[in-house]
Amino acid sequence: MKKYRGVFLKNDNELAFMKQANHIVFEILQTMGEAVRPGLATMHFEEIAQEMCKKYNVRPAFQGYGGFPYALCCAVNEEIVHGFPSVKRKLKEGDIISFDMGVIFEGFYGDAARTYPVGQISDRAAELLKLTAECLELGAAAAKPGNNLKDISAAVQRHAEAHGLGIVKRFVGHGVGVRLHEKPEIPNFVSSASPDLPLQPGMVLAIEPMLTLGTDEVNVLEDGWTAVTRDGSLAAHFEHSVAVTTKGPVILDN
Ligand code: MG
Repeated sequence: MKKYRGVFLKNDNELAFMKQANHIVFEILQTMGEAVRPGLATMHFEEIAQEMCKKYNVRPAFQGYGGFPYALCCAVNEEIVHGFPSVKRKLKEGDIISFDMGVIFEGFYGDAARTYPVGQISDRAAELLKLTAECLELGAAAAKPGNNLKDISAAVQRHAEAHGLGIVKRFVGHGVGVRLHEKPEIPNFVSSASPDLPLQPGMVLAIEPMLTLGTDEVNVLEDGWTAVTRDGSLAAHFEHSVAVTTKGPVILDN
């Protein structure tokens, strides 16, 4: 595969496989989102994820990755990312739940995430979901030739900060393709350490803002995986895998 400054560039044929991988992730996320309701154990969604991977004849991308035990990352309320599905954790009215799902189709990775409301949620929680989704759309819209990687980070950061949200810095987006995590890293903020990378057609970028109603500081629980906000504030996570093309950004998980 061709590379530009260490970043894999996918050709049209490879992008077609990535589109299929990400479409399957989209279908799984949609199905889980429609199933969300109070009273369900979060393990229910792992079961949906596993069944749908069988149905589509794909492998779950996260299971076994670095030792992660499940197909699905699910994160409730103050959990940000990398949470374990559980038979004990039951959803309650007013919770929010994030699903991060990945699959491998014909050697290509799909990766996307959404946060859903459980029944009726507070106005502030609803705002967090709406704004995080908007930050993702703004970041994705900046993923085009002529722009720099920093423009994606800046677009997310500007909108998040304008609304006083915490930006989780510990976790970042990433290139995606024949590996789950390829170059480049895609922070949701700009700093002096931000990589200077002119965007090229063929790059596929998993852009994934993780925003909070409070701090940007993170604790990882004793399971070694589940990341939570240090102050217990709510966190939301939305992710698209976006292809940079001559015609502009193309969201693959739809
Ligand atoms: Mg990702």
